[in-house]
Amino acid sequence: MIPYVPPEYKREGFNCPHCNAFADQHWRTLRDDYLVGRAADPYVAKSVCKHCGQPSYWFDGRLFHPPSGGPPPNPDLSPEIIEDYNEARRIVNDSPRGAAALLRLCIQKLMVQLGEKGENINHDIASLVEKGLPVEIQQALDIVRVIGNNAVHPGELDIKDDLPTALSLFELLNQIAESMISQPKRIKELYAQLPESQRKAIEERNKKSPTSSAAG
Ligand SMILES: [Zn+2]
Repeated sequence: MIPYVPPEYKREGFNCPHCNAFADQHWRTLRDDYLVGRAADPYVAKSVCKHCGQPSYWFDGRLFHPPSGGPPPNPDLSPEIIEDYNEARRIVNDSPRGAAALLRLCIQKLMVQLGEKGENINHDIASLVEKGLPVEIQQALDIVRVIGNNAVHPGELDIKDDLPTALSLFELLNQIAESMISQPKRIKELYAQLPESQRKAIEERNKKSPTSSAAG
């Protein structure tokens, strides 16, 4: 996966908030455009995507149109999760804290999609660990859980104005979905393409010596 480069003030290239493509940006201040002769606000700027040609508007170094940030969601997430995820993208530039809380809600709903109860994320993660959840995915889940929770209940961690932290949570959520939903789905599809005789032989092998797979 190509890493997502968030829109950043005066950066030469980033993932466009309109078309999501990584593209060079053409920067202008609005004074260059149509505020000639007025005491124009130098804090208002425009970046134009060289891929789709759509303009984004910036005020005081912050993107204010289109209201979008964060990489696009993994399409294998449930529609309900994608809705919350996109809401987090719409607000993240103004409220990294609000976005972090919404992404924690996404994790809670993801637990349900993965067959857990979805009532207590902490218990659900523990249950997944018992079922063999890889440690890096457990850590990714806990990062979104803890940061999102601190965003709601001010604790030791304050991400009020911390956009980079909020943006990294989007990436973590996508990595979790990739590892827990998309990758198993792709492997299952490929496995189903093996000749039936081979699949039966593999099933027989696994039945005979369930512990032999580690020995190869
Ligand atoms: Zn674009």
